[in-house]
Amino acid sequence: MINRRDLIKHLSAVPLLGGFLGQNNAEAAGMLAKVPARNLAKELGIRTFINAAGTYTMMTGSLMHEEVMETIQGASKDFMMLDEVQTKVGEKIAALTHAESAVVTAGCFSALTLGLAGVLTGMDQKKVEALPHLEGTGMKSEVIIQKGHNIGYSHALTNTGCKIIEIETVEELQKVITEKTALMWFLHIQSDKGQINHQQWVEIAKKNGIPTMIDMAADVPPVENLWKFNDMGFDLVCVSGGKAMRGPQSAGILMGKKHLIDAARLSMPPRGSTIGRGMKVNKEEILGMYVALDKFVKMDHKKEWKIWEDRAATITNAAKSVAGVEVEKFVPELGNHTPTLRISWDATKVALPVKVLHQNLRDGNPSIEIMPGENNTLTITTWMLKPGEEKIVAARLKEELSKAVV
Ligand SMILES: *Cc1c(COP(=O)(O)O)cnc(C)c1O
Repeated sequence: MINRRDLIKHLSAVPLLGGFLGQNNAEAAGMLAKVPARNLAKELGIRTFINAAGTYTMMTGSLMHEEVMETIQGASKDFMMLDEVQTKVGEKIAALTHAESAVVTAGCFSALTLGLAGVLTGMDQKKVEALPHLEGTGMKSEVIIQKGHNIGYSHALTNTGCKIIEIETVEELQKVITEKTALMWFLHIQSDKGQINHQQWVEIAKKNGIPTMIDMAADVPPVENLWKFNDMGFDLVCVSGGKAMRGPQSAGILMGKKHLIDAARLSMPPRGSTIGRGMKVNKEEILGMYVALDKFVKMDHKKEWKIWEDRAATITNAAKSVAGVEVEKFVPELGNHTPTLRISWDATKVALPVKVLHQNLRDGNPSIEIMPGENNTLTITTWMLKPGEEKIVAARLKEELSKAVV
């Protein structure tokens, strides 16, 4: 039933066509003036916010570029064969990243699991269907990791049924390499937490005929990292698509040696009876990932960096104008390589527990997310801000801190 108000709305939107074609026909003919899109956040009461924190999965990562969204929209109108999309996109991605081959996965985590699956099974269909049960299959079963690299993400590896073998020194590494060793895995973001560096890791693996994989999920920028580890000789390289690259949040890239990518794809949709059947990426995201990567490789990173710096300066100046507040700017060398502000305050001058500030910024209008730290500190990054939002963050921060001056 269409009520009077709706009717008037439709009529005013389509003064003529709606009248004699009828709304459905006009819509089908594409003649209807655009009806305002539904705002689902409003409709469902979901809080949206200014992201001054960074690329966090809990905050839905990053915002996709306009070109990515256009790609997704365009691709949604036609059927395509999933394997053909992956193959054609894979060739383009490989060329951009100096890899032999590549495939779009459901995030970096999924790339880790699928890459290892490929290493374990090769092109043996029986082995593909046996995963994650390795016993009695002839498959290898151990992944070697430096102790400092064994943080949560290694669960992606044990998902295949493999065991993690932790080592610290080169001597320990030599000792644990056996006929059971499937992979030597390296976590870039923790590379300062291990005694063995990238080159040594690859060299020792090659000497022993063991494949290597590196997780560099959050390690662009710098853009060069997209090919650096392929050039260095890692057999498999895994990266997130929905962090700094601003592709789909549920996409990532597995790149590397062609025979391993081919094998990994046996565990991926459309094939079922695999550990990867639930790690589906649709054609829209696969194409969107490619467009995001292409844009990222070709963009002016110096210009982008300057924008982040300028925003950081705006926020710094506002925070520092409050007596007792200090701001330190740093750029993490490993992971989330972007200008980052550590804001801290003297509790005897500014009586504001960071928990309260966090909540006040969150409850404000517009809502703002920052990353609270310990003992009157918080961190802010500016790369996920939309143009102009830095002014709002600066003003709100100054307002809250000033209010608490004793
Ligand atoms: C984010 C992250 C992952 C997971 O990546 P997704 O793309 O979210 O699946 C894996 N490893 C590291 C080091 C990460 O930072």
